[in-house]
Amino acid sequence: MAVLYSPGQDQTQSQLQVGENQHEVRPGCCDGLAETPAKEEVLARYAEEREKRLAADRHYVSTPIKGERATSRRSAVRSSVTVAIIGGGFAGLIAGARLREVGIGSIRIIERGNDVGGTWHWNRYPGAQSDTAAMVYLPLLEETGHIPSEKYVHGPEIRSHCKTIARHYNLYDDALFGTSVKRMRWEEASACWSLETDRGDRFNAQFVVFAVGQFHEPRLPAIPGLERFKGHLFHTSQWDYEYTGGTPDGSSPMALLATQRVGLIGTGATAVQCVPHLARAAQQLLVFQRTPSAVDERNNLPISAEWFTSIATPGWQQRWLDNFVEARNPISEVDDLVRDGWTQIAQRVRDRLKALPGGIANAKHVATLQSECDLENMSRIRDRIARIVKCAKTAEQLLPWYFQFCKRPCFHDDYLEAFNLPSTFLVDTGGKGVEAVTESGVVANGQEYQLDALIFATGFSADNTERLSRDIIVEGRDGHTLGKAWTGGMKTYHGIHVSGFPNAFHVQPAQGANFLSNITHNLLDGAAAISAIVEHMVGEQMDIVEVSEEAQTRWISLLKSGQRSLASDACTPGNFNNDGKLDDPGFRLSVGYPDGPGAYFRYSRNWRSNGRFEGLEFRRAGSSRKRK
Ligand code: NAP
Repeated sequence: MAVLYSPGQDQTQSQLQVGENQHEVRPGCCDGLAETPAKEEVLARYAEEREKRLAADRHYVSTPIKGERATSRRSAVRSSVTVAIIGGGFAGLIAGARLREVGIGSIRIIERGNDVGGTWHWNRYPGAQSDTAAMVYLPLLEETGHIPSEKYVHGPEIRSHCKTIARHYNLYDDALFGTSVKRMRWEEASACWSLETDRGDRFNAQFVVFAVGQFHEPRLPAIPGLERFKGHLFHTSQWDYEYTGGTPDGSSPMALLATQRVGLIGTGATAVQCVPHLARAAQQLLVFQRTPSAVDERNNLPISAEWFTSIATPGWQQRWLDNFVEARNPISEVDDLVRDGWTQIAQRVRDRLKALPGGIANAKHVATLQSECDLENMSRIRDRIARIVKCAKTAEQLLPWYFQFCKRPCFHDDYLEAFNLPSTFLVDTGGKGVEAVTESGVVANGQEYQLDALIFATGFSADNTERLSRDIIVEGRDGHTLGKAWTGGMKTYHGIHVSGFPNAFHVQPAQGANFLSNITHNLLDGAAAISAIVEHMVGEQMDIVEVSEEAQTRWISLLKSGQRSLASDACTPGNFNNDGKLDDPGFRLSVGYPDGPGAYFRYSRNWRSNGRFEGLEFRRAGSSRKRK
C-alpha cells in the first residue's frame, strides 16, 4: 500500500478538487444562491440567526440509558481492592493503564455496559467515527502497538482498541460488567471507600476513580406528545439494528428500512455521520434541522504500516498530542503534524502573523486575525455546501451562520451529498426545532410529517454534577454528599480532586485543560497525575490524600478569572455553550485553565513531577487532619 497519510501531504489540493463539483439544479428547486455577503452583513446574519434560536424552546429531558445485564450470572463481590474505577470507557481504561504502570495490582473496573468502551460501547450508530485524528485520539497506541487503519477511525476499530487496552493491562481480570455503583461512603477509620452496587456487591477500595464519561445519557428535546408516537422511536446511542437491519460495522445494509419513512431529529456531529447511511437505506428520510452544522471536508486516508513505523519513534504519541494542542494555538511556532480542520484556522492566523511587518503582534492583532480567518473559513464552508447540494433551497437552509467553534465543527464527505438523493428531505425549522410529536409523526413549521420511525440524534446530558448526585450517592468525609458539595456547580482542584472526598479522583476535562478538541489528551493528563500521586503515596507509606479547601478555593478563583472562550456572547446556542444560558452558575464552572490547554498541560506536568504535589495533604490512617 502506498503511503497515504504523511506529514508532507498537501490537503489544499483536495479542497480544490471538491470545488470542481458541478452545481446541478434538482427538480422542484430554484437555483441561484446569493452572492458572498460583506463582513457586516455576515455579522448581522450571525446575530439574527442566534436570536431566532435563543427564542426557541431548548429544553431537554434525560432518558436513562437502557441498562445491560451482565451476560453471565455471578455472585455478589465482597473482596477489597486498592483501586475501584467507576466506568470502563476511555477515562477508566487510561486511568487503569497508568495505575498498572506504577505497580498497582488490585484494580476493579465497575461498568454498567457489558464490556469496556464507554461512549464507544453505547454509540454504535451507522457511520460512527472519530472526528479527531487517530494518532491523537486513540489512547495508548504506543503502549499497545496498535496501528490505526485510517486517519479518522470508525467505531468498531475504536471499540476493539478499548478491548485491546483492557487486555494489555489486564483490566478485565476483576472487572464487574452490567453493574452500576449506587452508593459509596468514605470510612475514615479504615481509610477507604465502601461501595455498593445494584447487583448486591459490597466491597472496600482504598482509592476510587470516577471515570463516568460525558456522552452516554441520551437526552430528548422536551417536545409535547413524545409519549404518543406509535411508530418506532429510538436515540442514536441505542441504535436498534433489529428494527433497521444491518450491523454497526456496515458489513450488511440496513435493509429493513427499505419500506420505511424515517424521521431524524438533530443535525449535530452524530447526525452528520449517520445521515448518509440512513439516506441510502430508507425509503424516505426526513432530517429535521434546528441549526445547521458547519460541515467541512473529511479527507480521510488509510494509514500504511510503513508510514506509521516511520513516525512511531519512542515517545511519538506524546509529541503528537503536544503538537496538536500547540497547533490549535495561533501564536505557537509549531509545525502542525495533524493538519486538519481542527488546526487550520490557527495555521491561517499564524501565516498572517508571520506576514505582519516585523512579525510583531499583540493580543488585539491576534484576536482580529482570528475573527477574520474564521469569517473566511466559514465563508469557504458555506461555498462548499452551496457547490455540493444541488437544490438551492436546501443548500441555503444548510448554511451555518456563526463562528466555527461556537458549535462542534463537523467533517464529512458524504453528508451534504445525501441531500442530493431523491429520497432525502431536509425539513428546516428556521431555528425553532420540531414543535410536537403526534401518534403518527412530528409537527414542524405547523405541518405534520407522517413517519414510521423517529430517530433522535439530539445528544447527551453531559452534566456530571447532576448525575453524580442522582445516580450514585457519594458520601465523603463527615457524611457530606458530593451532591451537596457541588450545589451550584462542580468544584474541584485541577478537575480531579474534591475537598472533603479523600482518595477519590475524577478523570474528565473540565476545570483542568478543558481541551475539547481532544478529550483523550485531558484524560491522559489526569491519569498521569493520579498515578503519580498514588505512586508517591506508596513510596511514602501514606494512606490518605485530600486537596485542602484553600487550594480548591484558590483554583476555582483562578478559573473564574479567565475569559469566556467557546461560550462567547456572540455564539449561536448549542451544547458548547449551555444552549446560550451562559450565566448558569454550573456552566460558569465548566471552564478550563485561563492561559489555555497548552499552558495547563505544561503546568500539570511540572506540578506532578516536582514531587511537591502542592495543594494536596497526605496523611496516614488514624492520624488527624491538619487544621489551618
Ligand atoms: P448534539 O451535538 O447535542 O446535537 C443535538 C442536535 O439536536 C443539534 O443539532 C440540535 O440543534 C438538535 N435538536 C435538539 N432539539 C431539537 C428539536 N426540538 N428539533 C430539531 N433539532 C433539535 O448531539 P450529537 O450530535 O449526538 O453530539 C453529542 C456529542 O458527541 C457532541 O459533543 C459531539 O462532539 C460528540 N460526538 C463526537 C463524535 C466524534 O468525535 N466521533 C461523533 C458524534 C458526536 P441545535 O444545534 O439547534 O442545538
